[in-house]
Amino acid sequence: MFAHRITAIAAMTLLGVSLTLTACADGPASLADAPAPKGDGRISDARGISPFDTGHPAIRNLDQDLLRAVRKAADKARRQGVEMFVTSGWRSVEYQRSLQERAVARYGSREQAERFVLSPEKSAHVRGEAVDIGPTDADDWLIRNGAEFGLCQIYANEMWHFELATRPGGECPPPKPDASAAH
Ligand SMILES: [Zn+2]
Repeated sequence: MFAHRITAIAAMTLLGVSLTLTACADGPASLADAPAPKGDGRISDARGISPFDTGHPAIRNLDQDLLRAVRKAADKARRQGVEMFVTSGWRSVEYQRSLQERAVARYGSREQAERFVLSPEKSAHVRGEAVDIGPTDADDWLIRNGAEFGLCQIYANEMWHFELATRPGGECPPPKPDASAAH
């Protein structure tokens, strides 16, 4: 009888531990401990990926406060019928450089390109401190409701680009005209 009780307690303890681990699997604490997944953060799905797709480097390597805020926002948006996807999150230096080079080729000069794509040294995406959100109705939703989570549209010409720029429930600063005004 006594032995049974000990077994039961041991089993419950083990169960408790495994439940705790499972509960933490998506949590911010485990993100820091887990090795960074390989990859440059490129998102091949044009629609984007779920902010809960922890296995993807673009999500996994995001700043934890930002990721937490985006997930809270995505949960609330979904309850209101708006599906939120991350079309770009963390990017490696190499990936950001390739985007920058493509933009320079497209817009003719580094200065013009900077209105849309910053260098790896300046980009908040490389620091894991920015997300691009889609589709457009999710951008609309986040522009209207993001401040509740500290999330703000940063550039007037990029309605999809969000960063933590206020305290939750605070007021977002007015968007800068474009990324070239960032520094
Ligand atoms: Zn962006």
